[in-house]
Amino acid sequence: MVTPFRQFVLKLHSRCDLACNHCYVYEHADQSWRSRPKVISAQTVGRVAARIAEHVRRHDVDRIDVVLHGGEPLLAGHERLDEVARELRGALDGDCRLDLHIQTNGILLDERFCDLFAEHGIQVGVSLDGDRAANDRHRLYASGRSSYDQVVRAVELLRKRPEIYAGLLCTIDVANEPITVYEALRKLQPPRTDFLLPYATWDNPPERSSTTAYADWLAAIFERWNADGRPMSVRLFESIIRTARGEASLSEAVGLEPSTMIVIDTDGSYELVDSLKVAYDGAPATGYDVFQHALDEVAAHPGVLARQGGLESLSATCRECPIVTSCGGGLYTHRFRAGSFDNPSVYCADLFKLITHIRDETEVPAHKLPYATLDSLATGFGGAADIERLADAQLSLRRALIAALRARAADGVWELFTRLDRHHREALEAVLAHPYVRVWAVECLSGAGEATYLANIAAAALIRAGQDVTLRVAVEEGAVHLPTVGTLRGVDGDTVTLVAQAGDIGIAGTTGPEWLAVRTVSCGDFSLVLEDADPHRDCHQWPAADRLDESALSTWQRSFEAAWCLIEKEYPQYAQGLRGGLITLTPLAPAPAGRDVSSTARHAFGAVAAALPGDPATLALLLIHEYQHVKLGAVLDLFDLFDKNDTRLYHAPWRTDPRPLEGLFQGTYAHIGVTDFWRTRRNVVRGAARVKAQEEFARWCGHTLAATGTLAGSQALTPLGERFVARMRQTVAAWQEAGEVVTG
Ligand code: SF4
Repeated sequence: MVTPFRQFVLKLHSRCDLACNHCYVYEHADQSWRSRPKVISAQTVGRVAARIAEHVRRHDVDRIDVVLHGGEPLLAGHERLDEVARELRGALDGDCRLDLHIQTNGILLDERFCDLFAEHGIQVGVSLDGDRAANDRHRLYASGRSSYDQVVRAVELLRKRPEIYAGLLCTIDVANEPITVYEALRKLQPPRTDFLLPYATWDNPPERSSTTAYADWLAAIFERWNADGRPMSVRLFESIIRTARGEASLSEAVGLEPSTMIVIDTDGSYELVDSLKVAYDGAPATGYDVFQHALDEVAAHPGVLARQGGLESLSATCRECPIVTSCGGGLYTHRFRAGSFDNPSVYCADLFKLITHIRDETEVPAHKLPYATLDSLATGFGGAADIERLADAQLSLRRALIAALRARAADGVWELFTRLDRHHREALEAVLAHPYVRVWAVECLSGAGEATYLANIAAAALIRAGQDVTLRVAVEEGAVHLPTVGTLRGVDGDTVTLVAQAGDIGIAGTTGPEWLAVRTVSCGDFSLVLEDADPHRDCHQWPAADRLDESALSTWQRSFEAAWCLIEKEYPQYAQGLRGGLITLTPLAPAPAGRDVSSTARHAFGAVAAALPGDPATLALLLIHEYQHVKLGAVLDLFDLFDKNDTRLYHAPWRTDPRPLEGLFQGTYAHIGVTDFWRTRRNVVRGAARVKAQEEFARWCGHTLAATGTLAGSQALTPLGERFVARMRQTVAAWQEAGEVVTG
């Protein structure tokens, strides 16, 4: 069974009105153009259309692309182009979608052509190598005259007809300044741009000043394009990004996808990929033509099959290459050396460097946890290094969330992030680590939050880095909040200009707003942000407390200090983990008398929220309990421990209402900490308090053990989940089996 063709390059005219000295048609080994008819005939067009229609019907192809090409296809004239489009659309009508494109040098483009293209739905791509100097390096008339003004005039025509403006095609010359080329192309607002490595083989290598001159040239453009927020599609860069994610390439220049392209010349002969003309005279020839041969016969040609073999068809060097899934050995033609294509690309060093660079710049590092870390966390504990790994993964997650909002950033804000990342990474990461940044980002991506807050995050990082700031920032609930730095309260409007200079933070044009710096609670060398102003903190199951007055702040400080001393002294097995990942304590509104209220939010890694309890020991218990939820939430961000499609409800021994599986899992994991708290507490207190501690330990031990049994029997755990739950159970079962539980 042959692989059907899906892309057809149809030559309409075999000559060109320019004499570009880098053109593969006229300036390289193959000189077959000399014997071709200048213009494709009506008879040949009819045969081409019939052959394509026959092919798509036989293979039930639902969509094809036909690129009208040359030489210069506009030389075929308005009438012939009109005929070609009608013939093709007529032959395929109803059988398959036909996307028509034309690649032109633009010299002859006029309103009449544009009307014709609009009528037939033909997308127009123009070849342009950059600014005037870059373009005039190669793209000249035979007389040596510049073509630049003519081409730009054609592009300007197309900009007025966005429905047919497909984009620009730039052949690289590393002698041109890359950013000047990029800016010149960008100015013309192409929907899509592609950069073409000059046609070359190992026998005719490209001119270069260093072994990776092309990678360096393209990397400079990639960085600017990325920093600009990717204002236009760039096929080469997007293909590399896509293939790194396991998606299909958009271009024959990279990737492992089988080629489904065939060229048909003005005389109706089928040819292999056009760029092979640089390899040797006659290299693209198949010996087949539309008059005598069906496309299925061409599809079985060895030259076609050679470009469809994926990994197996590549050279041994390429097959071993770590980036082969992105590179795919580069363009087929570039592999040619002394009669063989069984080589890496002549641009191998460039491709390797460019692809690696783009992957490094665009991929969120995948976080892997050693089994030892997962097992350690599964016991209910986890040391500082284990929690650090979870915190690193959370940071990557937040970076990915922020990157997903890039397109919605106000002018200049994304560039600030790029600058911060390069020069003040520590300050940026401290702000991104703030628990409620993720809460806001998730809200924003789900359509509920305002992307203007990106500027507040950037401003907070700049202030932390000691930089001056003048930036339009978001106002929420009458305040400008700068995460981890502070809040300006009493601000009108939706956005205002924040000015920060030498430690003074205010709003341009007013002295009114009150500055409320972020405050902390601490014990010895350990401190937490006491978050009582961030508008995104109110995401817990209990309302957040308002800004604390000085007296309430002192009470929190005393309670935290005593609670933390207790944890360090009596619960060192939790202290390490808490130090590694807990950074924020969020006061909640007072709880009803006789009740303790505490909470974590799924997206607020690093924060525990609580209403101030009556005594420090209870605060210690709440911190240990809630931090268990924080840890498990971060594990669940990385791994599937259970079937998320399981909609059954399960009995949790500590509640009257049945719980979804995740709720039961979270509760069980948290209650390992609660059980352990009371287990230790029995040995710390005396008298009635000790009796109570003993009872609480017995109660929670029983509940937690029963719940691990429910989890294990749910048949909804993944293998990793089974392993995790087995270790949770071991921890609690060991306490019971050791005879520690004494009831009555
Ligand atoms: S980088 Fe070089 S070795 Fe690797 S796949 Fe590309 S051409 Fe082959």
